[in-house]
Amino acid sequence: MIHQLMSYTMASNVFIVEDDSTVMVDAGMGLSRRVTDYVKEKGLTIDILVNTHCHVDHIGGDRLFPDARIYAHELDAPDIETGSQKTLWHFGFDKPFKFPVFKRVREGDVISTGDYNLKVIHTPGHTEGSMSLYEKDKKILFSGDCVFDMGIGRMDFPTGNPEDMKRSLERLLTLDIETIYAGHGGTGTKDSIRMGLEFFF
Ligand SMILES: [Zn+2]
Repeated sequence: MIHQLMSYTMASNVFIVEDDSTVMVDAGMGLSRRVTDYVKEKGLTIDILVNTHCHVDHIGGDRLFPDARIYAHELDAPDIETGSQKTLWHFGFDKPFKFPVFKRVREGDVISTGDYNLKVIHTPGHTEGSMSLYEKDKKILFSGDCVFDMGIGRMDFPTGNPEDMKRSLERLLTLDIETIYAGHGGTGTKDSIRMGLEFFF
């Protein structure tokens, strides 16, 4: 099952795919105990923590799950490991975070939990190593900061690129998707992608 911890602050939403192997998709900023309390209350063990990209509002909470294996796209993984400026750590903290990435993933890799096969779709535009996770049979997409219910991710941060973003959205539009679990805001649909392309390009 999927647990959705929607954020009401600048921190990202946090999703947990509870299965034989339990995967957290983004960890939020880690400034409140909400996520750790939730995980404890439900008796979950986070085996894999996927960071959809390197920004601090998605990776800050990684520090609260030191036993989880961190997965990130190969183009953003070095930033997570070195705490580069690209992670935007200065938006909320006075020093960077550095986390060891257990596995660098790329387009086409599949993270299997048992019942869910989460396929990595490389969706750059917000950052060069931004990725989405697609579950074809369940028609769900974890989109990170590529596309939101109402809008798309900013393209003016380091390695952001409008042309990449447009291509990523066009790519997502070809997939059979019913539900989009986005990095911020509410849950979207395929119309969110259509709207993003119409309004921003
Ligand atoms: Zn971001």
